[in-house]
Amino acid sequence: MAKKLVVIGNGMAGARTVEEILDRGGADLFDVTMFGAEPYGNYNRILLSNVLCGIEDESGIFLNDMDWYAANRIDLHTGVRITRIDRFARTVVDELGRTTPYDKLIIATGSDAFVPKIAGLHRPGRGYHQGVFTFRTIDDTRGMIRYAREHRRAVVIGGGLLGLEAARGLQSHLPHVTLVHSAGHLMNAQLDPQAGAILRRSVEALGIEVVTGARTTEILGKDAVSGVKLADGRTIDCDVVVVAAGIRPSAALAERSGLDVERGIVVDDQLRCTDEPDIYAVGECAQHRGETYGLVAPLWEQARVLADHLTGADPDAAYHGSRTATKLKVAGVDVAAMGLKEPDRDDDETVVFAERRRGVYQSVIIRDGRLVGATLLGDVSKAGYLVQAFDRGSPLPEERIRLLFDLGAPDAETTAAELADSAQVCNCNGVTKQAIVDAVQAGVRTVGGVADATRAGKGCGSCKTLVAQIVEWAAGGEVEEDESVSWYVPGIPLPKPELMTTIRNMELKSVSEVFAALAPAGAEDARSKMGLASLLRMMWADEYVDERDARFINDRVHANIQRDGTFSVVPQMKGGVTTPHQLRRIADVADKYRVPMVKLTGGQRIDLLGVRKEDLPAVWADLDMPSGYAYGKSFRTVKTCVGMDFCRFGVGDSTTLGIAIESRFQGLESPAKLKLAVTGCPRNCAEAYVKDLGVVAVDGGRWEIYVGGAAGAHVRKGDLLATVDTADEVIRLTGRFLQYYREHANWLERTYAFVPRIGIERLRDVIVDDADGLDERMRASIAAHRDPWREGAAPATPGQFRTSLPLISLPRVPATTPETPAH
Ligand SMILES: Cc1cc2nc3c(=O)[nH]c(=O)nc-3n(C[C@H](O)[C@H](O)[C@H](O)COP(=O)(O)OP(=O)(O)OC[C@H]3O[C@@H](n4cnc5c(N)ncnc54)[C@H](O)[C@@H]3O)c2cc1C
Ligand code: SF4
Repeated sequence: MAKKLVVIGNGMAGARTVEEILDRGGADLFDVTMFGAEPYGNYNRILLSNVLCGIEDESGIFLNDMDWYAANRIDLHTGVRITRIDRFARTVVDELGRTTPYDKLIIATGSDAFVPKIAGLHRPGRGYHQGVFTFRTIDDTRGMIRYAREHRRAVVIGGGLLGLEAARGLQSHLPHVTLVHSAGHLMNAQLDPQAGAILRRSVEALGIEVVTGARTTEILGKDAVSGVKLADGRTIDCDVVVVAAGIRPSAALAERSGLDVERGIVVDDQLRCTDEPDIYAVGECAQHRGETYGLVAPLWEQARVLADHLTGADPDAAYHGSRTATKLKVAGVDVAAMGLKEPDRDDDETVVFAERRRGVYQSVIIRDGRLVGATLLGDVSKAGYLVQAFDRGSPLPEERIRLLFDLGAPDAETTAAELADSAQVCNCNGVTKQAIVDAVQAGVRTVGGVADATRAGKGCGSCKTLVAQIVEWAAGGEVEEDESVSWYVPGIPLPKPELMTTIRNMELKSVSEVFAALAPAGAEDARSKMGLASLLRMMWADEYVDERDARFINDRVHANIQRDGTFSVVPQMKGGVTTPHQLRRIADVADKYRVPMVKLTGGQRIDLLGVRKEDLPAVWADLDMPSGYAYGKSFRTVKTCVGMDFCRFGVGDSTTLGIAIESRFQGLESPAKLKLAVTGCPRNCAEAYVKDLGVVAVDGGRWEIYVGGAAGAHVRKGDLLATVDTADEVIRLTGRFLQYYREHANWLERTYAFVPRIGIERLRDVIVDDADGLDERMRASIAAHRDPWREGAAPATPGQFRTSLPLISLPRVPATTPETPAH
C-alpha cells in the first residue's frame, strides 16, 4: 500500500523534492499531500526580482501550475499553514486545527526575512509601519509595487544580493532610491572590498544612491514612513522602506514540535532530522553539518539526495554539503563568486584584474596548486571554467593569468566539453550539464528548445551563453536556428503571414482542423489554442467553427475569473455613460446575489466581484445589460471625458464619439486586449495618449489619433497616426488600425510593442493612404459578431456554468482594502 508522504512548504525545495521523487517512480510509492502557507502554486522566488522590475509578469514565474499537482495526484493545500507536528501521533496540525497523518514527513519551510531591531519599524497591533516592506514573497512584491508607485523616495536597508535587487526593482516605480548598508562595502558576504567598491560604482551609475557603513536605528514618520535615521544621527527622507537585511531559516514550527533546531533544523546526510527517522528537512530551513544555505543550488542537490533516499532509487545516497559557487545577475550586474573572497594564508597565490571604468573585477585565489576562491564581476565569461576547477580541484595552467584570460586558456568549446556531467549550469532552475546533453540527444537541436525542455537559462539568464555552448558542443555543431521565435503560436511551426495564407488556402475553419493539418504529427498544443481561435475568428468571421475547449475560461463564460475561482461581471456602459435605471438594476443584482464587492474599474465601468460561476446566467438575465467585455483578448472599452457639452474646455464631443466607437467595435477578438479612449481637448482627462488607440479633440473641430500607447507596467505615449477633420474619419481609421493590428500582430503582442515594431511611418502608409481591403474585412468581422450574453439563457455546453473548484479563499467583504484584483 502507498505510504502517506506529507510535505510542509510548497516552495522551491519542497516542490523540487516532490518532482524528483515522482521522477523516481514515487507516484506508486506515496500518496503525496503538500501544504503551502502562501495562497499560490509553486513559483520561482528568484524571479520576484524580475517581477519587481516589471520585466516579468507574475504568471511567468510559476514552476508548476495547478494542473501539474492534479495530474500527479498531489493533494495540494495552498494558503494553509501547519502549526504543529505531533511526532507521536504522526500527524501534522494546521491553523484550523485539522490533522493530517503521515508515514514520512518533509519539512521545507524555507526562510523568513530577517528584520533587525529598528525603532519605529512596527506599529502596535498593525504590523509593519505604513510604507515598510520585506522582500520574500509574491505578496511582498505586490505590496511594494502598489505602494512605491504612489510615492517618490525609497530607502532599502541591506546591500546584499536581496537589497541590490530590491533597489534596482524599485527604480521602475519611483524616482529616488537609496541603499543603506551597514558593512563597509556592498555584498560583503561574497566580495572583497575592492570588488565591493567596483560594484558600488556600477550601482551608482544606475542612479541608485549608496550609503555604506551606515546602521539604520529608527524609522521616522507618524502615520506613514517619512524617513530613516542612521546611528551617526544623519536622516534620509523617504516614504518607502524595504528591509532586505538577510534571512533566517524558518524553523519555529520544528522547534515547537520538539525537533532539534540550532540555526536551522538539524539534519544528517540523508536530510533526516536527528533521532526522527521519518521526518526530513530540505532547503533553506535545514542545517547540515553546521551550514545553512541561502541560495538555490544547494537545495537542488539536497532534493536529489532526499528523493534517492526516500524512493530507494539509491540506498547509498548521501548529501555531503555544497561548495557554494554563486553565479547570478544582481541588479543587472553579472556576479560570480566561489570559495574564499580574500587570501588568508601567506603563501596563497592571487591574480587580480580590475577595470573600474567598465565595472569589471576578477580575482582568483590559488592554494597548493588548486583554485580555492574566485570573484568575477561585470565579466563572468570564465565562470563556467572556474566553477569547474573549484568544484573538482582540477590542476590549473602554469601561467595563472590564463585562468582569467584567453591566452590560449580553454576556449568555450573546451569549457563545455570539460564540464563535469553533474555540474550545475543553470543555478536558478537546478539544471545540470547532463540534463542539457540528454535533451540534445533526445533530438532537440535548438537552444530555445533545450531551454523549454529543461528550463535551463529561464531564470536570471546569466548562464545563457554557457547553455548555448553546451548545446552546440553536444549537438556536434549541428545546432539549428530557433525558428520558433517567429512562429505565431508555439504549436504550429509557421510565422503569422504564412500561417494565414495556409489557413486560407486549405480553408481550415476550426482550431482542431489547424492542428490536424499543420501541427507536427497533428499534435494539439494547449498553449496555442487561444491564439488560433482568435486568429480563425478574425479571418473567417461567421464561417469560423467555434470549439469551446479552444477558449480560455473567461471567454467560455464571458466573465473574469478571480483568484478564488469566482467571477467578476462588468456590465457594458458605452463610453462610461450610464442611467439611474441601470444603476438601480446593478444595485439590485448585487443585493440579490450577495455580491461581496462592487467596484468602479479604471475603464469607467462597474465591476461586480465575487459572482459564483453557476449564478452567471441568472445575474446576466437580471441585469439585462450586455457584458462590458472586461475579459478576454478583445476590444474592451472606450474611456471618455465629459467633453464639449459639460466641460468648459472641450472642443470636441468626446462622449458621443467614444460611444460610437465602442458600439461599432464591441467584442472584436484581437491578439491582446485593446483599451481605447476619446478625450475632448488636449487636457486629456480620459488619458488618451496612453491607450492602445487614443483620440484627442483639437482646435478647429479636428481629431488627433494616437496608437500604441500604454499605461501599465510599461508606460508609453502613443504615436500620432493622423489628424482628421470628422468623427466619421476617426471611426474609419480606428477600424483600419484595429484590423491591421489583428492581422499582423503576434499572439499576445500589445500595441505598445506592435506599433514600434512595424514603425509609425509604415502604419500611416497602410492605414491612412492605402487601406487595401482593411475596411471590408473589418466590416465582415463586425457583421459576424454575436452577443455572447445570449448564452446565459442557452448554455453552449452542459458544464458551461457549473461550479468549479475554488483557487483560493478570498476575504468576503474587503471593505477596508483599497486594492482589488486587477483586470
Ligand atoms: C527576491 C529574491 C531573489 C533571490 N535571488 C536568488 C538568486 O538569484 N539565486 C539564488 O540562488 N537564490 C536566490 N534567492 C533565494 C532562493 O529563492 C531560495 O534559496 C529558495 O527559494 C529556497 O527554497 P526553499 O524551498 O527552501 O524556501 P522557499 O522557496 O521560501 O519556500 C518555503 C515555503 O514554505 C512555506 N511555509 C513556511 N512555513 C510553513 C508552514 N508552517 N506551513 C506551510 N507552509 C509553510 C512558505 O510559505 C514558502 O512558500 C532569492 C530569494 C529572493 C526572495
Ligand atoms: S479633456 Fe478637455 S474636454 Fe475633456 S474633460 Fe478634460 S478638460 Fe474637459
